[in-house]
Amino acid sequence: MVQPRQRVYQAWKGDNRFFFGGRLIFGPDVKSLGVSVALIVVPVALFCVFVARHLRHQFHANDAGYAILIVAIVYTIYVLLLLFVAAARDPGIVPRASHPPQEDIHYDSLSLTDTPETLQFPRVKEVIVNGMPVKVKYCETCMVYRPPRCSHYSICNNCVERFDHHCPWVGQCIGKRNYRYFFLFVSSSSLLCIYVFAISALYIKVLMDGDYPTVWKALKHSPASLALMIYCFISLWFVGGLTGFHMYLISTNQTTYENFRYRSDGRPNVYDRGCLSNIYEVAFAKIQPSKHKFRAYIQEEEVRAPPANSAGEVEEQVGGPRAKLEDDLDIDGDLSKISQWHNHGDNDIEMGGGNAN
Ligand SMILES: [Zn+2]
Ligand SMILES: [Zn+2]
Repeated sequence: MVQPRQRVYQAWKGDNRFFFGGRLIFGPDVKSLGVSVALIVVPVALFCVFVARHLRHQFHANDAGYAILIVAIVYTIYVLLLLFVAAARDPGIVPRASHPPQEDIHYDSLSLTDTPETLQFPRVKEVIVNGMPVKVKYCETCMVYRPPRCSHYSICNNCVERFDHHCPWVGQCIGKRNYRYFFLFVSSSSLLCIYVFAISALYIKVLMDGDYPTVWKALKHSPASLALMIYCFISLWFVGGLTGFHMYLISTNQTTYENFRYRSDGRPNVYDRGCLSNIYEVAFAKIQPSKHKFRAYIQEEEVRAPPANSAGEVEEQVGGPRAKLEDDLDIDGDLSKISQWHNHGDNDIEMGGGNAN
């Protein structure tokens, strides 16, 4: 049977949008990225034309007036690049399995009516993270046990490692592999707001020192400055607040999702390794390569394995993704600890043990 060879991104089961032959992976709402770019580019263009251009010859020493314009343009390009990197890379998608985890199925309880959805195997496993038990949940869609901190986001339809949130402005899930760029984007945007606000205010001051002696006359002469100051002030509440919130999350090693979900539970944060280590982890630790080769051709042997195979054979056939996942999970083999899934009606991973003592 000869089939046309497909690349991984062409048979992708998530709801992502691929560009340039699978080189770039965006979320399904990639269009909102255009809105975000416009919200940055339009004000900066107005700033360059109506504010910075008039300041070119204002400061005679070393052409400082030109520096204002050049800094605005170069810094905006930097901010846009950060946005692009956060939006166009794999956020840390967990590879799907082609069948349920057969090594965990209780064969004696199988019946003829069992479908992959009703197979009897534990929906929750317990793994140890930093010496504390953490429950990981089985994902019915991806057919894998989610690593700790991983969540399945239904709009993108993927399990994402260290899932933070799905950012509608970036149009992408924010997770293990793009969180650093997301944070840099948000914090750099805040600085851009402050810069545009400050220079616009400076221009008003320059006008007041010149032909427009009162602040009202100056603002009337340059309504663009007024509009930019108002826009930046409002934006700064948003991006500045977000920057502060994420600085807190980074220093305590939480994700947005964990913060909202576990805030009231009083459960210990097993990932907190001290402020400096937490900051180092986000800022400097090496970002793991993507677990997907989106442009690779799909291999014949990766096609669905028949369920009758023994677990050993299946492991060999399926190869990489599941084996890798097991490594990441560092799953404690002690199946006796497993709780049955119906005791845990929650939709997502459960952080383990309420024993804070
Ligand atoms: Zn999933
Ligand atoms: Zn998403």
